[in-house]
Amino acid sequence: MADQIHIVPHFHWDREWYFTAEESKILLVNDMEEIMEMLETNPEYPYFVMDGQTSVLEDYLSVKPENKERLTELIRQGKLIIGPWYTQTDEMVVGGESIVRNLLYGKMDCEAFGPRMMIGYLPDSFGQTARLPQILNGFGIDRCMFWRGTSERMGTAKTEFFWVGDDDAKVVVQLLPLGYAIGKYLPAEEQALKERLDKYFPVLDRGAVTDHSLLPNGHDQMPIQKNIFEIMEKIEACYPGRKTVISRYEDVFEEIEKAPALDTLTGEFLDGNICAYTGAFILPVRI
Ligand SMILES: [Zn+2]
Repeated sequence: MADQIHIVPHFHWDREWYFTAEESKILLVNDMEEIMEMLETNPEYPYFVMDGQTSVLEDYLSVKPENKERLTELIRQGKLIIGPWYTQTDEMVVGGESIVRNLLYGKMDCEAFGPRMMIGYLPDSFGQTARLPQILNGFGIDRCMFWRGTSERMGTAKTEFFWVGDDDAKVVVQLLPLGYAIGKYLPAEEQALKERLDKYFPVLDRGAVTDHSLLPNGHDQMPIQKNIFEIMEKIEACYPGRKTVISRYEDVFEEIEKAPALDTLTGEFLDGNICAYTGAFILPVRI
């Protein structure tokens, strides 16, 4: 059983989709105010992950340039976690040079603010190119996270493994087997909370190579969950033996990297239909 539950506050940012970029900027400005206020005033809420893409900083500052120092200070303190990408890419539909440039621009953006998240974070890509370990290693990154593309048929039932590219480039993968939003708006009502997590914990436990697992707390364009501390208490009450902590993805990687052995996978990941970790077919909908 994964008895340490890492709750990672984050948002996933689709800059435009079924809404315009201008509409998403309005949401971003509102969300950022709440995020920054929480990080500035509550030491119990130490981190927020900005979806691995610096374009959200650019959008935010285009509306609120007066908050640049405030933003930069939170990044310097490691509370607001930025990069490494400029924008979220979909590796299988863009040219290779675009992926490299994306990381290059992300790196240059981060340098102006503070540390960048050294994880190839791809929560919403529809398949993973075999070249990604090589590209990430080229930018000094040896950790990778994604949701889609792999399954037990690729050679492991575990959600943490090494991924080795054609040229022996290598990253440690921490899969999001149920996506990046399983901890979105966690309900405070115990029955509803249990109904949600009873579905997820067995899947997370089955794939984990350590006794640590991830509950990413956020979703597309969503504001922070202000009552997360109440939820954490309820999770611990509903699931004796499990502990919760507000965390960063890096903290879980550190645990994975202590594991005595990890399976190794190679090549691209384009397995689209089977959920490796439950055996069930995944419907093309968001969880
Ligand atoms: Zn998306």
